Amino acid sequence: MMKPIKKLLPLVVSLVTLLVLAGCNKGLADKNVAEIVQSDQKIIWGVKNDTRLFGMINIKTGAIEGFDIDIAKAITKEILGDENKAEFVEVTSKTRIPLLKNGNIDAIIATMTITDERKKQVDFSQVYFDAGQSLLVKKGSDIQSVADLDSSTTVLAVKGSTSVVNIKKAAPEAKVLEFENYAECFTALKSGQGDAMTTDNSILLGLQTDNPGYELTGGNFTNEPYGIAINKGQTEFLAQVNKALDTLHENGTYDKIYNKWFPNLKEAE
Ligand code: GLU
Repeated sequence: MMKPIKKLLPLVVSLVTLLVLAGCNKGLADKNVAEIVQSDQKIIWGVKNDTRLFGMINIKTGAIEGFDIDIAKAITKEILGDENKAEFVEVTSKTRIPLLKNGNIDAIIATMTITDERKKQVDFSQVYFDAGQSLLVKKGSDIQSVADLDSSTTVLAVKGSTSVVNIKKAAPEAKVLEFENYAECFTALKSGQGDAMTTDNSILLGLQTDNPGYELTGGNFTNEPYGIAINKGQTEFLAQVNKALDTLHENGTYDKIYNKWFPNLKEAE
């Protein structure tokens, strides 16, 4: 008769293999900062690619540009000493938490609101930007605020965003159509699939700037404080990110980046 230990051997071997493979997939967050610097590791940031002012591909250069990108580079420089160690991976509102949890990215910096619901899945840095949800409509539209959204109106929003949850509360009668990303959502507004598009004022501002036929209306009806999301349990990495943000506020880098992207907005802090 086989000894119990021998019987268990194949199981033990496959378990060990699994653990080793899982280990290979570990992102930066499981290592301490000294190890990261030594191993020449990068920080892989999940960012938006279609959101003007925050994370947008420059079609001429292929580079991703925006406020979130500059903040990510500045934090990377604080932690790893070199902003070129920031690597960017595209996320959407729907894919960002799964990509973080799967270890494809080390952190999310992508117009992401800190919410209690999301805190069940990820940890957040301190607030690094204050936004609020608003509406974008075609100039001359009858819709001037959320109060005008009744059962005869359709509002366009993006899957996985707080905007969907909030608009259903603020305008329960209105029909809500959900899209994969902000580019698709705005295309739908332009083609008349809805009467208004809703998300953060900061995102809508980028669309309004590029498309003078459209305007923000009705002001903000929610608060959307943006945070950097990091996997639970990565306490040292989270502390480094928060410390880096403190430094950027202290040494003027944060203000420089803010004024570069939002020259006409007064900083909330
Ligand atoms: N800030 C909101 C959110 O986190 C809307 C912007 C977005 O979809 O990223 O859901």
